[in-house]
Amino acid sequence: MLARRQALVRDGYQCRSCGHVVHGRAAHVDHITPKAQGGTDLLENLQTLCATCHQRKTNRESRAGQEQRKGEG
Ligand SMILES: [Zn+2]
Repeated sequence: MLARRQALVRDGYQCRSCGHVVHGRAAHVDHITPKAQGGTDLLENLQTLCATCHQRKTNRESRAGQEQRKGEG
């Protein structure tokens, strides 16, 4: 089983930021510690987010890391 799917199942398909239930493409799996900062692909570093919260977190991270971009869809 893929780690991202495991993360979704573990979190009950709920955004861990706002609690929204997310399904299908709306369900984003986020790296809690970004890979650019040494984060792993292990389940413990993954969390379910809705698209809105993921976008917000990505924006925050890209501001913090300035030019750094996450090449993740
Ligand atoms: Zn959310």
